[in-house]
Amino acid sequence: MAIHHIRTLGDPVLKEVAAPVDPANESLDELVKNLADTMYNAPGLGLAANQIGVLKQVFVFDVEDGLRALANPKMLWQSEEIEEDEEGCLSLPEVRVAIARPTRVKVEATDMAGNVVAIEAEGLLARMIQHEIDHLNGRLLLDRASRAERKRAIREMNQLRLGG
Ligand code: ZN
Repeated sequence: MAIHHIRTLGDPVLKEVAAPVDPANESLDELVKNLADTMYNAPGLGLAANQIGVLKQVFVFDVEDGLRALANPKMLWQSEEIEEDEEGCLSLPEVRVAIARPTRVKVEATDMAGNVVAIEAEGLLARMIQHEIDHLNGRLLLDRASRAERKRAIREMNQLRLGG
């Protein structure tokens, strides 16, 4: 087990864009194991490599069908239908932020064997994948939130930090 420290708001690595990887020619096993151990320990539904300080386009998730690890995700399509829901993030501990996102997406990514896979997702899985792609592009929930919602979340985080 290798549980890593999860980087939180203010850590510059969360604002960086992760670099593409080549799973067919580069062993990502250790990174994937570290991400999975850290995610399950938190616990969370998904974790992007940036969140443990590694700027590689790799993320893990376990929403419905057990652990999956994907690299270099690309958004192919997003539904016009948008839904707002509260999201949490291990990098913004203890706050939830209302975020409007497309309800369905089609994504292309590379699995750990180097195969290109297509994923059609809806509901929670679609939301989670969009969240992790944002991480790999250096975006956090606060960058997606409305101005009022961002202010509210920051106020809440500051109160938690002060023990209020
Ligand atoms: Zn997150």
